[in-house]
Amino acid sequence: MTSRFDAGVTAPPAADLSGRTAMVTGGGSGIGRAVARALAAAGADVHVVDVDAEAAKAVAEDTGGRPHAVDLADAGALEQLPSEVDILVNNAGLQHVAPLEAFPPERFAQIQKVMVTAPFLLLRRTLPHMYAQGWGRVVNVSSVHGLRASPYKAAYVAAKHALEGLSKVTALEGAAYGVTSNCVNPGYVRTPLVEGQIADQAEAHGIPEERVVREVMLERSAIKRLIEPEEVAGLAVWLCGPHTGYLTGASLPVDGGWTAH
Ligand code: NAD
Repeated sequence: MTSRFDAGVTAPPAADLSGRTAMVTGGGSGIGRAVARALAAAGADVHVVDVDAEAAKAVAEDTGGRPHAVDLADAGALEQLPSEVDILVNNAGLQHVAPLEAFPPERFAQIQKVMVTAPFLLLRRTLPHMYAQGWGRVVNVSSVHGLRASPYKAAYVAAKHALEGLSKVTALEGAAYGVTSNCVNPGYVRTPLVEGQIADQAEAHGIPEERVVREVMLERSAIKRLIEPEEVAGLAVWLCGPHTGYLTGASLPVDGGWTAH
């Protein structure tokens, strides 16, 4: 028996998100900006949330969306954000590199607030609307560090592993209401967050930046290049499209083969 996908259909229709509302945290830069642009290009109305007010405004202007200047570490400030969104992209994140015994506790706490507590509070806020309409998509921008550890990144690795757990619980609870929740797990993406790390490591090791990329960052990746933010954004939009309703509770590595080791 042939399925309807064998019958001369050469490509699946792209996601049509017109009429859908999305909220992207950390939407002012890097992956979040690329996701906001890609969702808007698919027709969604996008709320761009970022602690950097200028960046949020610029991306909102670019995408025809709405900016929200909010520090996600401030639980009270999240109350200003809309609750009626159909697509929630938990993307905002930050890094701090230090050995455990020297890791500043306040920095650890801040990273958990932005990367774990804020996604939890935003889920609490937005799931009732998704449940009421019987459709919702949660895309958590995790990392290869949600699946694997690296030294000196205690707060980040702990936060991303926590986000993985939160995403799976969301998948289980949301299934009955047409809500899916998944993680995307990039390796190193060419964004300001990584460009900062390249510069820091070049200085710390006393080697040129291109050697940091090749020998430090891409050591475990089979594909020897950084990923572009648009490649991650494409996956996020696909998760909101017409062919992924049965895909939930998953973590999708876009890591150039890192986790194949
Ligand atoms: P980025 O620094 O380019 O962008 C992050 C955005 O989050 C910035 O606009 C920043 O202002 C915002 N942000 C930070 N703290 C915030 C806060 N307290 N409240 C509101 N907004 C805040 O970084 P990116 O590389 O695009 O990272 C986005 C996500 O992708 C992060 O969760 C990161 O962990 C994840 N990620 C990045 C890479 C990579 O290699 N760049 C790899 C895997 C996962």
